[in-house]
Amino acid sequence: MKQTIKYKLKTSIEQEKHLSNLCFYATKLYNTDNYQRRKTWEDTGKIPDYYSQNKILKHNHWYKLLSSQTAQHVSMVLQNNYTSWFKLRKKDDKANPPKFRKKSMLSPVQFYQQFKIINDKIRLSMSMKYRAEQKIKFLEIDFLEWKKIAGIAKMCEIMKEKDSWYAHIVYEVPELNGRLSNNVMALDLGIFNTAVSIDTEGNCNIYSGKQILAIQHYFNKERAKLTGRLAKQYPKRHHSKSLDILQKKQHRQISQGLHTYSKKIIEDCIQKNISVLLAGNLTDIRERKGKGSVYRQKLHSWSFSKFIKQLEYKCMRAGIRFVLVNERFTSQKCSCCGLIRKANRKKRGLYVCRYCGSVMNADANGAKNILKKYLQDFLSRSIGYVAQPLVVRLDNVVPC
Ligand SMILES: [Zn+2]
Repeated sequence: MKQTIKYKLKTSIEQEKHLSNLCFYATKLYNTDNYQRRKTWEDTGKIPDYYSQNKILKHNHWYKLLSSQTAQHVSMVLQNNYTSWFKLRKKDDKANPPKFRKKSMLSPVQFYQQFKIINDKIRLSMSMKYRAEQKIKFLEIDFLEWKKIAGIAKMCEIMKEKDSWYAHIVYEVPELNGRLSNNVMALDLGIFNTAVSIDTEGNCNIYSGKQILAIQHYFNKERAKLTGRLAKQYPKRHHSKSLDILQKKQHRQISQGLHTYSKKIIEDCIQKNISVLLAGNLTDIRERKGKGSVYRQKLHSWSFSKFIKQLEYKCMRAGIRFVLVNERFTSQKCSCCGLIRKANRKKRGLYVCRYCGSVMNADANGAKNILKKYLQDFLSRSIGYVAQPLVVRLDNVVPC
């Protein structure tokens, strides 16, 4: 299994100069490659394939300044862009071929065999031509915060974001064997509570959605301001760069909050020796259909699928089986007597059964239903008494 970790680098001015050089060469190489492909296309009506193009490029000035695999990767990216253009052309004859990159753009550069991690530093090997020109063999750069991963570092991508340099390192991580136990945990996922967990021992945790909703609320307001301004200036436009930036920021902050929760849930699973983690569908999205803007609904389903992906992936790493359950009526059914009544869900947050008199947290009831269904279907077991839920909140998450 592959895992990518993003590290911020602690670069000196000298090192930044070299990194900028490499990224600049990558842009140059991309554009040279693109220029040659277009020219061949005009002359012969055919676009050269990657291999024949690579043969020509090998003698190129920019190509030689980069290490060979880095250069090959640049050419491969362009090749992929051409392939998608070919596909697009079949449907749309006005589709444009891959564009040239801006001269000022610093393209990300990839290292495969020419990078190593030695003494908690990243070491990048320079090409022969670069060594000769710049009198430098390696770049050895410190990480701002080094995090060791139990895996083999396979690839590394260096890029500049805003004013800092980052390394995205891809590791090959061993998969764990499944845990052996009879303990199962179920999650009810939602908007007001990001997740409510219940396990076969009857432990119950509530992961409050308050902070994530606050982030969403804050950004939705900022978004409304921006769209309002945009509508005044350009009535026909619906997109702008600042809207894009805002959305990225919002996604990043929500995803950070979700990470904290998915991490806590998996830690809890490991501590309780859970072998199977169940997750139900996002109930309140279904129920609240028609309420709230389209954008907000999209955002909810975005965070839902993001959260599922995080859980799935972290479960895999911890040797826990992750099962997505599509169980209807989880929120309407009474988990004690099995009665399905919509009106039982009295108000947000509380479930009161008119038939058997049970009163419980509505999402805990949902989670219990998911767990019960699974246990009955697969293990013919029942759950014990459900303890008073423990509420978990996100700390230090402030929208900014
Ligand atoms: Zn009941």
